Formats: sequence, structure tokens, C-alpha cells
Amino acid sequence: MITAEIIAVGSELLTPDRADTNSLWLTEKLNSIGIEVKLKTIVGDDDARLEETIRTALGRSRVVITTGGLGPTEDDRTRKVAARAMGRRLLLNEKVLEGIRAFFTRFGRTMPEINSRQAMVIEGAEILDNPNGTAPGMYIEHDNRSLALLPGPPREMRPMFESLVLPKLKAKTGGICVVRRSLRVAGMGESAVDERIAPVYTQYKNPQTTILFNRTEIEIHLTAEARTEQDAELLLDGLAGQIEERLGDAIFAFRGETMEQVVGLRLAVNGFTIAVAESCTGGLIAERLTDVPGSSSYFMEGVVAYSNDAKIRSLGVPAELIREHGAVSAPVAEAMARGIQARAGTDFGISVTGVAGPGGGTAEKPVGLIFIALADDAHTEHRKLMLPGDRQLIRWRASQAALDLLRRRLI
Ligand code: ATP
Repeated sequence: MITAEIIAVGSELLTPDRADTNSLWLTEKLNSIGIEVKLKTIVGDDDARLEETIRTALGRSRVVITTGGLGPTEDDRTRKVAARAMGRRLLLNEKVLEGIRAFFTRFGRTMPEINSRQAMVIEGAEILDNPNGTAPGMYIEHDNRSLALLPGPPREMRPMFESLVLPKLKAKTGGICVVRRSLRVAGMGESAVDERIAPVYTQYKNPQTTILFNRTEIEIHLTAEARTEQDAELLLDGLAGQIEERLGDAIFAFRGETMEQVVGLRLAVNGFTIAVAESCTGGLIAERLTDVPGSSSYFMEGVVAYSNDAKIRSLGVPAELIREHGAVSAPVAEAMARGIQARAGTDFGISVTGVAGPGGGTAEKPVGLIFIALADDAHTEHRKLMLPGDRQLIRWRASQAALDLLRRRLI
């Protein structure tokens, strides 16, 4: 496998003010053509450090990509330093200079003299046009290494890389195609998932499997390599099918969809409507559901009934139910779900009530105790959960469990 490394240039990327997102985007693109990124470096505006970094990178990686530092000012040093690291000259390129002038003319301005710096091209480099800015990129083959110098702004760097660099690198890989798929699991722990599926995925070298824990969900990432995309998809289908046999309904997404997208799609295709009554999640479920474009066709109403009074007044929860069982209880969760479903006239009503913490827990009702309920015209069901985590996580997990309860009903 061809290995690559990425160098992000710019002192601001070393501060909390600006994160280096270019390398993440580039890594995904490189992986997609079967090039593995082994290392990335962030270098501040320092000639010596940058030169050393580029030289070392060219010594160990087949593909080296830099982003940033191609601007017109003195502190944009990538061009000059990369030339030095390779022992090549910088030459003024008249055609590039004309292009930069034309860029300014298009916006009714005259090119400032300092921009002529951007027309300095490394000897032997191929110029990468930049239709979205003034800084052209460069691509150089040097001692059997490929070096691409790209501008820093993502909106300039991305199209340049995709249209001008990616095809060249793809040709070097001999046409390997890498396809990824992300399966998402709800309602199971990481070790339980692994225990069930390890006997299957350890049999395979291709696709490769990685299990990631992400908030409430387990993500199973499958990566397949093949000559064509179709062949890679077939490999993924094979392993995904076997994993599904082991995990069944616990898998809620096969292509990385979110829980709210999956639930939304099921509601939409069935023509069902939903309303939500939330206490401890404070509107999170409503927010997640309405985050999905087109949700107005199935999401009708959400009520945040935080106080007991609100539960009684807005959802018609009987006061004696709260007095007898407490607001955090199965009967109240069910009454909330029925109440919102009746009030909104929807096919389904879901509710959450619980103790998100950090205060408010008792021995009988500790932090993390959550009741969720789901009502339709025919019946109402609830689940009692003990969720670990801090306040934010408990709220998120409660919203996930409530949406998952609905998803399972819709299967
Ligand atoms: P320009 O001609 O626009 O100055 P440049 O190649 O010199 O291009 P920089 O000056 O290094 O680019 O960076 C310009 C802006 O691009 C930065 O302020 C930042 O917003 C963004 N940028 C630079 N590098 C990165 C990166 N690695 N990840 C995300 N954004 C970046």
C-alpha cells in the first residue's frame, strides 16, 4: 500500500483559534483510493522547521501533501521552503502571473505587486490552477516521491485536490478501490457487540473491521478493497449480512444514517405522525427529529413538560398519579405519552421522564433513572433504564433510547 503524509502549514493551526481540518478531509480522500496516511504534522510559520519537515517527509513517504502558506505575504513560505528542501529553484512563471492579474481584473481590481510572489513556481513543478483564489498549487515528482503543495482555505484546496491531484495519485495505486460502510448499533454495549461478531469478522482480512464507541452508539466500520467499487460493495454486503445475522434489530443503520433519519424515514414511508412529550431531555428528541429535512410531514408537536404542573396542565397527566408514583415513574411516563398523542392527534406519542443529574437523585430514584414510553391508539408501553454518564450523556442516551423504542415498533 502506498503511504502518505500531510503537512499543515500555519502558526494559527497550532492555536485553539483554528483547527486543521484539511488533513482530516485529505485523509478520507486518500484512504478512498487505497493510500494510507501514516503521519500528519502541523508546522508553524518557521522556515527551518518547515524545510526539515518537508525533507524528512520526502525521505519516508511516497506521497507528501502540504496545505497552506501559498499566499502572497512574506509569512507564506511553503513555495520557497519546499523548493529549498528539494534543492530546486523558484522561477517566475509569466502565465501564472497573467492568471493572477486576470483574477483581480475579474473583480475590478488591480493586482497588488506582492501577489507576483504567487507566480513563483518551483522548477519542474506542474501548476495546479486555482479557480477559487489567487494561489496556484503545485505538483512535483521528486526522487520517486509525489509532492503536492495546496492552498490553505478549504474551499480552494478541496476542488484543486479532487480534480487535479487525486486522479494522478489514483493512477499510482494501480486502480485499487476502497469502500467503507458504517453500521450503527443501539441498545447494546461495546463488549457485547464484539463478543457476538468477533467470531465472524476475525475470519476476514478484507473487509477490515473496526468497532468504535460513539456516545450511545456502537459503530462498526467495514473497509473493503477491490479492483472496482462494485466488487468492494459485494465484499461489504457479504460481511455486513453475517454481522446482521448476529446482531439482528440492534443494527439500526447500514450506511451511517443517524437514528433520527432512520426513524423519520420509517414514519414517512408509512404515513405515520408523531408528537413528543419530554421532561429531562428538555426538547432534545424534538430537536433531533426536526433536524431531518422533510420532518414536517411526520413530526407534529413537541412539549417540554418539566414541572409537575406542566405535566398535569399540558399533557393531562392525573395529579394523583404523580403524587402516588412520583414524576419519574412508569405510570407517569405512560400518561405523558398517551397525553401528547391524544392532544396532538398523532399516530404515536413518545415521552421521557427521568433524573439527568448531577443533583436530584435519591436512593430510590438515582441519577440516570429514566422512563421512556410509547403510545399509539391501541396500547402504551414503557421501558425503565439506568443510564450511566454525566447530565449531557444521560439526556442524549435517553433521547436515543426513546427514538429506538419507536424504531423497533415501526419494524
Ligand atoms: P491564501 O492565498 O488564501 O492566503 P494560503 O495557501 O496562504 O492561501 P493560508 O494563508 O495558510 O493559506 O491559510 C488561509 C486560511 O485557510 C486560514 O486562515 C484558514 O482559515 C484556512 N486554513 C489554512 N490551513 C488550514 C487547514 N489545515 N485546515 C483548515 N483550514 C485551513
